[in-house]
Amino acid sequence: MKNNVIKNRDELEKRLRELADTEYTGQIAMGAMCYSLVPEEEAEYICPKCGKATAQENFIVWAIEDIREIVEEIKSLGYDACLDEEEFCVFCGNNAKQYTDYELDYKDCESEDWDEKEKRREENRPELIFRIKLGGAAEYHVVKSNISEEYRGALEFLKGQDHYLNYYDMTESIHDNVRIIQKMLGIGLDIPVPPAPKQWWESDDGDDDDDEGEGDEEGYDDDGNGDEE
Ligand SMILES: [Zn+2]
Repeated sequence: MKNNVIKNRDELEKRLRELADTEYTGQIAMGAMCYSLVPEEEAEYICPKCGKATAQENFIVWAIEDIREIVEEIKSLGYDACLDEEEFCVFCGNNAKQYTDYELDYKDCESEDWDEKEKRREENRPELIFRIKLGGAAEYHVVKSNISEEYRGALEFLKGQDHYLNYYDMTESIHDNVRIIQKMLGIGLDIPVPPAPKQWWESDDGDDDDDEGEGDEEGYDDDGNGDEE
């Protein structure tokens, strides 16, 4: 395994370009298709620095546990990387944010100000900060992400793999997810990729935020080709 590990930034970029230009031909795992629906609720985030608890969202607390392990593995491969959790601890963190929007209940989802609340909550959501300096790079690449799959994709790519397992244990190829490597490692930024899929709370048009009051929010999870129902 270790002899597949490429440390040099330029060589990693070359490999990413090769993957972007070819199709994934490996096996595809379909994952386990049964999940229980767990509601979002408050959970205790325990700061690894000071050991104190801060209220955060349960899904993010679980994701952090995965992401910590993934970043440790990246470091164990010999990469100069670290995970910064400073936004999560209100006791010792800089810019710490706490999960406070408990009033956001799904029974409210048809209320007038639902979108506003959701947006405010997104803005107040703390994020993990990942830093990595690849061989030959002058500076650290710094990126914010709470999405364990993105870290997993970066780890597998750094291990010399061309695929990784997503949140549902389904195979994702690096070939088709070059965007994630660009984001997490800051390499191959000129490789053309499809736009990132929109999160469901994001509006159609990302370039301003004064598109309120239209009332019709259907179709915001479409594939971006702009057709109107
Ligand atoms: Zn702390």
